[in-house]
Amino acid sequence: MITSQEFVERMKSLKPNCYMHGELIQRDDPRMMVAMKDILMTYDMVDDPRFKDILVTTSHLTGNKINRFTNVHQSVEDLLAKQKMTRELSRLSGTCIQRCMGIDMVNALSIVTKEADDKNGGKTEYHERFKAFLKEFQDKDMVGAAAQTDVKGDRMLRPHEQADPDLYMRVVERNAKGIVVRGCKVHTTVGPYCDEMIVTPCRSLTKEEGDYSVCFSVPADTKGIHMLIEAANPTARKALPAEVANHGIAHSVTIFDDVFVPWERVFLDNDPQLGARAALLFALYHRHSYTGCKPAYTDVLMGTTALIAEVSGIEKQQHVRHKIAEMISVAELVYASGIAAAHTSTKASSGTQVPDVVFCNVGRKHAGTNIYHEYDILCDICGGQPQTMPYEEEYADPRWRPYLDKYFMRKADVPPETIHRAFRLAQDLIAGPVTSNMQIAGVHGGGSPIMEDIAIWGSYPIEEKKKIARHLAGIPETPKEPKDKK
Ligand code: SF4
Repeated sequence: MITSQEFVERMKSLKPNCYMHGELIQRDDPRMMVAMKDILMTYDMVDDPRFKDILVTTSHLTGNKINRFTNVHQSVEDLLAKQKMTRELSRLSGTCIQRCMGIDMVNALSIVTKEADDKNGGKTEYHERFKAFLKEFQDKDMVGAAAQTDVKGDRMLRPHEQADPDLYMRVVERNAKGIVVRGCKVHTTVGPYCDEMIVTPCRSLTKEEGDYSVCFSVPADTKGIHMLIEAANPTARKALPAEVANHGIAHSVTIFDDVFVPWERVFLDNDPQLGARAALLFALYHRHSYTGCKPAYTDVLMGTTALIAEVSGIEKQQHVRHKIAEMISVAELVYASGIAAAHTSTKASSGTQVPDVVFCNVGRKHAGTNIYHEYDILCDICGGQPQTMPYEEEYADPRWRPYLDKYFMRKADVPPETIHRAFRLAQDLIAGPVTSNMQIAGVHGGGSPIMEDIAIWGSYPIEEKKKIARHLAGIPETPKEPKDKK
């Protein structure tokens, strides 16, 4: 395992290919360092007695100690530990721990590469290639980005029907050494500060779409990759420094401009059925990760709601307790769905542990459905203060601080600075530069709500439920064919 400083040095050694606000930026640009903070935590915490038992595990491949963010889950316990780790680290960051992107991709590919080789009767070597990649990924303690979502063009047309065939990532050339790919992936979280760009399709594919059914991984600074960056960084603190202000997040629009991928890094090619399976498996693993991070984010919102209520003297009010109980119900039901998904998981032919589809998706759906309601509750309890309070500079100015201390007071036994700190935290959460990122990711991250419904419908035994209804209604098991009308 490496240190966070070694990771930063590695990022600095990559060829610059990230653009932001009109500039070609370095990966240690200060705006990137705030966004990268969560990733650095995943390196720093391996020595922390509070976290090392869940953050450090043993590679099933090499027997070496590895960071769990590079692990391929082998058991129910692995899935539970991953979920717990995700909740505990996300709570500390107050946002999104980000490194799940790579681990979820790696787990999906561990399954698909083996299934492809089994299907091809040993004529392909995807799984051996994948294992060689995984060994390097684990040994070097790498961070992977999940470059999955294509730009998609006309939503009513399939990939091969688009006016521009590059609107979904595709292979444009195959030669003796590898393939050349062209396309553009969006919403690439950690793209600007990852080691590897791990790519899969993002949807179901048809037999005409062999060129679109490609999975691979390449270093993030590979020739032809260009990243256009959006960074959601919190407002910097001066007078009242606080942990919440240290964590941002960045995403990229990732352009693959005829990128060469050597065969040893191609993990699937020209197999629409398994290309689609790779897409679904990444989404499944990521939704299981969500059952860890979304409860963590509810922890942050509910903790802040309870704190604001406490400093305001209203914590015992029935309506406040009722609202916080709603938040508790969201957090713990979503977390419970992840636990259930782990306990009902199955083993893929590769040996990888696969969480249950329905439990992962209903958990993710419950979190997404409630995200704006949780903001609503915090906003309700805070009143308008988070939006309209003066800037920190005024609070730090000796001319104004006595006034701001005097007039922002709530409960007499709560120091004024505590009031200011609590409301500035609420401001960061509901009216800050990271707010919309967390709200939109709360709905769409890891796949939009419709994809959850599709996954649920694809796996849920709805016929069994109709059978129950028929039994209770006295309707015969097999409905009779309607008689032809003469
Ligand atoms: Fe991980 Fe959640 Fe962030 Fe996705 S949104 S990268 S699951 S912490």
